[in-house]
Amino acid sequence: MSQSPSAPDRPQGTDFIRTRINQDNLSRRFDGRVHTRFPPEPNGYLHIGHAKSICLNFGLAREYGGKCNLRFDDTNPVKEDAEYVDSIKQDVQWLGFQWEGEPHYASDYFDRLYACAEKLITMGKAYVDELSADQIREYRGTLTRPGTPSPWRDRPAEESLDLFRRMKAGEFEDGRYVLRAKIDMASPNVVMRDPTIYRIRHAEHHRTGGKWCIYPMYDFTHCLSDSFEGITHSICTLEFENNRELYDWVLDTLGEYHSQQIEFARLNLTYTVLSKRKLIQLVKEGYVRGWDDPRMPTICGLRRRGYTPEAIRDFCARIGVARAADSVVHYSLLEFCCREHLNAVTPRCMAVLDPIKVVITDYPEDKTEEFTQPLHPEDASFGSRSVPFCRELYIERDDFREDPPKKYFRLSPGAEVRLRYAYYITCREVIKDADGNIVELRCTHDPLSRGGSSPDGRKVRGTLHWVSARHAVPAEVRLYGQMFTTEGEGDIEEGKTFLDYFDPGSEKIITAMVEPYLAGLPAGSHVQFERVGYFCADPDGTAGHPVFNRTVTLKDSWAKLEKKQ
Ligand code: ATP
Ligand code: MG
Repeated sequence: MSQSPSAPDRPQGTDFIRTRINQDNLSRRFDGRVHTRFPPEPNGYLHIGHAKSICLNFGLAREYGGKCNLRFDDTNPVKEDAEYVDSIKQDVQWLGFQWEGEPHYASDYFDRLYACAEKLITMGKAYVDELSADQIREYRGTLTRPGTPSPWRDRPAEESLDLFRRMKAGEFEDGRYVLRAKIDMASPNVVMRDPTIYRIRHAEHHRTGGKWCIYPMYDFTHCLSDSFEGITHSICTLEFENNRELYDWVLDTLGEYHSQQIEFARLNLTYTVLSKRKLIQLVKEGYVRGWDDPRMPTICGLRRRGYTPEAIRDFCARIGVARAADSVVHYSLLEFCCREHLNAVTPRCMAVLDPIKVVITDYPEDKTEEFTQPLHPEDASFGSRSVPFCRELYIERDDFREDPPKKYFRLSPGAEVRLRYAYYITCREVIKDADGNIVELRCTHDPLSRGGSSPDGRKVRGTLHWVSARHAVPAEVRLYGQMFTTEGEGDIEEGKTFLDYFDPGSEKIITAMVEPYLAGLPAGSHVQFERVGYFCADPDGTAGHPVFNRTVTLKDSWAKLEKKQ
């Protein structure tokens, strides 16, 4: 095997994040520690964009002999769910990573966060405001116009503290008051214009139940959670660049341990969407089968499609990390990485997707031969399986042409081809139905070519895959293409949304004839249908009714694309 499934991951080059960590280690800024975290919000399933962040955070910890926490950023009680928490844990582990100790939850820190908020009030660095959400937005100003201070900005600390405690006690309805940090209404950075740090939300939280009716905002929670956990490098995506000033302000003002926030570009992939809001829409509105639909860019969708953790990690290593804002990666690179790994780790079998019957007229009707064949051409450790052969077979309809073009080396009237592992056959007669459709090919075989080897040095150019008609098992095969007909969101016409570009033809279901070995594979098994593509056994299948998803075709469009560029 060229690459074993447990082969070490591609070594990482040096990027700007690793350069900074090296500098911090050199200056002993964090005593040489590297402690990262992956902080998902449990409000949806993880997608390939998250995989980039997971590989980065857990990968850094691994490379530097450090630690990486899994922390659920669960400050929004309304959108979050234990279902998502479980799926996130499963997906991180499936990708091959293990977090340090137990998972953390921002909600574990609600008491400490509350104490920090009271401290800010006491310091005169936060106040209870009673502007409405709309007014706060209006007063905030714009990039070109400074903000206007709220009339409650100078409310005495004792009064704010009293109101804040009563907010916590549940005396007020949602939206009546908020707690705001008192920073700078004229700051050129709009984020710094007295951001809201606590709001009233009478809602049950999936972990703290009814204990709280005020919840801390993301910007307040995130930096402090990092601080409480002793995180050294807090890596996030570029849209938080402006929030770094606030991140630093909260920690410095409170005098808490200070982690370093570093931003990198989020991943965008062609022909798909990587926003939880849009993915939820595809699921809720029934465009796809669910979060794990094999067309979805979710980790569970990719898994069901037949992607491997190794392929995804390799993809993340190849794309690397950068600060360039628009990093759009072509989907075919992901497919390339998948093919590379599957090529090394999948057994080969035969399946005919669009069958046409072949009758070997000079082969005895009641005879069956079993050809024992290796499951991988280059790796004996895969073992072998027995492939039955008899008088009636199926081959691909596309492997026959009545009027073959020049250089067509597959089957045509009078032509000889090799049936993989079996015999040389020659097409003698084409049988058609009343409408002129080809329904059967009559062929003869050369018994001396048994096993598919040339009897007399005579060469055939074509080798076809086939299955025995008597032994083949019908299988449901789901062929997947891109979910969208447009490469990127930039191509969306005015007045349309991404949903207008959803391609209902992105899933095609056909019945294929597969060799018996394929009928008994457990769900999740990866296999190559020779000459056709890589497939994965779907959990919907049973022994009597196997179901396969096409993971990727064999054709490498990435190499072609690279050559062109
Ligand atoms: P979405 O926009 O899909 O809702 P999010 O950023 O709100 O994503 P989180 O659960 O907060 O999702 O993300 C957890 C971590 O994953 C964050 O650190 C975030 O920066 C990172 N992440 C999310 N999407 C991507 C992406 N497309 N590329 C790289 N990292 C990402
Ligand atoms: Mg988020």
